[in-house]
Amino acid sequence: MTTFVQVAVNVPLSGSGIYDYHLPEELEGRVKPGCLVIVPFGKRTVQGLALRLTGESAVPETRPVQTLVDDQPALTAEQMKLAQWMADETLSPLAACIELMLPPGLSQHTGTLYGLNSEKLPAAAVFTPLQNRLIDLLRQRGPLRDGQIDNALPKVRWREAAEPLLHKEILGSQPFLLPPTVQPKRARTVWLTAAPETLAERLEGVARPGSAALERRKAALRFLQGEALPVDVAWVKASSGATLADLQSLAEKDLVAFGETEVWRDPLEHMAPVVQQAPQLTGGQMEALERVRAGLRQMDPSNPPAPYLLHGVTGSGKTEIYLQAVAEALRQGRQAIILVPEISLTPQTVKRFLGRFPGQVGLVHSRLSPGERYDTWRRARSGQLSVIVGPRSALFTPLPRLGLIVVDECHDDSYYQDDQTPVYHAVQAALAYARITGSVVLLGSATPEIGLYYRAQREHWNLLELPERILAHRQILATQASQSGISMPELDNEGEAAFLPLPPVQVVDMRQELKAGNRSIFSRSLQDSLTQVLNAGQQAILFLNRRGSSTYVFCRECGHVLRCPRCDMPLTFHSDTNDLRCHICNYQRQMPAYCPQCRSTSIRQYGTGTERVESEVQKTFPNARTLRWDAETTRQKGSHEILLSHFSHHQADILIGTQMLAKGLDLPLVTLVGVVLADVGLNLPDYRTPERTFQLLTQVAGRAGRSPLGGRVILQTYRPDHYAIQFAAKHDYSGFLQHELAERRKIGYPPFSRLVRLELRQRDPASAEAEAHRMAEQLQVWMDQEGFTSTRIIGPAPCFFARQNGLYRWQILLRGPEPARLLRGKTLGEWRVAVDPTSLL
Ligand code: ADP
Ligand code: ZN
Ligand code: ZN
Repeated sequence: MTTFVQVAVNVPLSGSGIYDYHLPEELEGRVKPGCLVIVPFGKRTVQGLALRLTGESAVPETRPVQTLVDDQPALTAEQMKLAQWMADETLSPLAACIELMLPPGLSQHTGTLYGLNSEKLPAAAVFTPLQNRLIDLLRQRGPLRDGQIDNALPKVRWREAAEPLLHKEILGSQPFLLPPTVQPKRARTVWLTAAPETLAERLEGVARPGSAALERRKAALRFLQGEALPVDVAWVKASSGATLADLQSLAEKDLVAFGETEVWRDPLEHMAPVVQQAPQLTGGQMEALERVRAGLRQMDPSNPPAPYLLHGVTGSGKTEIYLQAVAEALRQGRQAIILVPEISLTPQTVKRFLGRFPGQVGLVHSRLSPGERYDTWRRARSGQLSVIVGPRSALFTPLPRLGLIVVDECHDDSYYQDDQTPVYHAVQAALAYARITGSVVLLGSATPEIGLYYRAQREHWNLLELPERILAHRQILATQASQSGISMPELDNEGEAAFLPLPPVQVVDMRQELKAGNRSIFSRSLQDSLTQVLNAGQQAILFLNRRGSSTYVFCRECGHVLRCPRCDMPLTFHSDTNDLRCHICNYQRQMPAYCPQCRSTSIRQYGTGTERVESEVQKTFPNARTLRWDAETTRQKGSHEILLSHFSHHQADILIGTQMLAKGLDLPLVTLVGVVLADVGLNLPDYRTPERTFQLLTQVAGRAGRSPLGGRVILQTYRPDHYAIQFAAKHDYSGFLQHELAERRKIGYPPFSRLVRLELRQRDPASAEAEAHRMAEQLQVWMDQEGFTSTRIIGPAPCFFARQNGLYRWQILLRGPEPARLLRGKTLGEWRVAVDPTSLL
């Protein structure tokens, strides 16, 4: 009986991407679900993943599977379920989701090998010049891969020229799988084989007397004498000055022998972990941890515990709970995945995991070499790593006994992938994966996304709250206090922990500054505070929200922002046409001469960059040492770490930076955080801007006052009454939550509806616009046909970031109870689809 196998094939635009094949006799019993196979596809040979084996196929004639790449499945059964879930949920091809889980170097690697059959060459043939070049090339160099021919014959259509030659069998071609580009790293080793007596006898005879080689070889032998185990050749060379030729000569004389060991490329090599003991937990932490532990002990795959949402202000001891939850999972013989926002921005968190679980942590990192990733993948699969720490892609590391998934700073944008297929949210994927594997999922944040919090309440998740800020061990605080020459303040204590209040936040109304004649970008209050901080030898952070600055138009007298009369979204200024535009509905108008509210002429677009802030600081405080941390100064590899270490060693007084500053930094000398303009983010045309502004301000404010020196925050704004600013200033998450939920309910946006965004990118603006309108009409037809009466089409309109890499972007939004259902199984051509997009810009 034939065995059929369904294979997910990773070929762009191949519909569902799932095809039926059958197993040839020699592969019977060897191909298992999750195995990588090579299959014919059209005229090509491609790689695919075996999904299911069945006894029958709906396809009348199937082709055979060609090769089995590896007997061991590349994906676990749970990973295959997760891939399926992601494909359904994000409307992406299954193969694209599977691709996320394949180790680098094992994804698509097929090619074609071309060779010349010289005996078929006619004596006198009329070939085109290009055909002659191709024949000469293969004659000279032997069989070549298509990629090699591409390099040898650049910019010509040699494939077309090859067709007739293949037909006449003058050329032969053969599909094949390229070996994975990454191989395990092997180190050449060498060790001493001679006994000590022999060595002493023969030492002087290993080279010509008096030669330099004699000295080098003797040094190498003496070095190896002191080593009990085989030593890396490179190391011997470095410590003795011997060359490889020297060592080879010694091997010929049977004094040493060569060997090879597989070395793991360890990305953590350069990060020196500090082993830390777990502190005694506070009562609040204890209670939270106990509930997580109960979930971990339950571990019933058929009945996974409800998700945990840990809401705790910055510095409330969340990371300590993650650490102890991981310890519990390990005690249960299970493994853990810890997702963090980008690693270079959260080095302190990563170090704590390394220190607590030495030797057991694998790091997944966007800057790892493919070889390092491959090794981490294989070590995880073989059970040698129990804890994986990394950004969103770390979720796809194969762990056979997963028990815990932690998502730190779960509100962070980096968990959302929108630049390639599949467009997915790692928090949603983590929730699904926890259900599939029966694991505990623990999401933590000081500012959980309100849609998530709303869901946690409605679906009876485990809500854990840590309202108090722990600064550190009392002992560490006392040391810090005496080092900085201040007396230890009176603090609430519990065990080893000391509590410190959140820093006071002052909201400065910039309209009043203008009235008082201060035209600087710094308010008088911020200037005074900076002076104090500099005089006291402390540090300050100046934060600037770069996203979408310089584009909205507002009145500097009264703070009025120009909005679309139809959508109530801020209008965007376009300097090329000097007009204003709504990026939701495409409304356009001229730039007004007067403020429609107060008739002032001070109405203009806003624009301040980090350079401008830095030069203002230097003008006002010529002695202050400044450091800029923005996209420009951190372009180079490793520059985040360098800047951060520079600042934390007090080699600068004022750090001027953008969004990146909001991540988990802990800088004890920082006693002042100034937000140059708190309302910048509020003026983007997206329903989530109040929430994002609140999150950002709360996170940035959390950077101040993380030591007994105390601290304060100054928010400069033209809109001091805006609720996002008000609630952020009071550190009032639940107040904001209530208010924002009420707003969302009014406008019918998530979590009270769901969104799907369709986005188009094209080189030609006119054709992009035409296609956008065509698609909107098509969507309307589908909606009418299928009775989507409570779903609305919004747009089409150009995106807020209307051009990217020379392409014009247009978007259409669908809003309703379940808009994604409309698109399931439909062909959308070049439109990119984002289900539940996190941004509409
Ligand atoms: P979060 O992750 O919420 O920002 P952390 O876990 O980083 O908070 O805790 C903040 C600081 O308090 C850290 O320096 C941490 O080592 C320390 N800390 C946490 N829990 C305790 C405790 N129970 N006793 C003493 N120090 C603690
Ligand atoms: Zn005005
Ligand atoms: Zn509009």
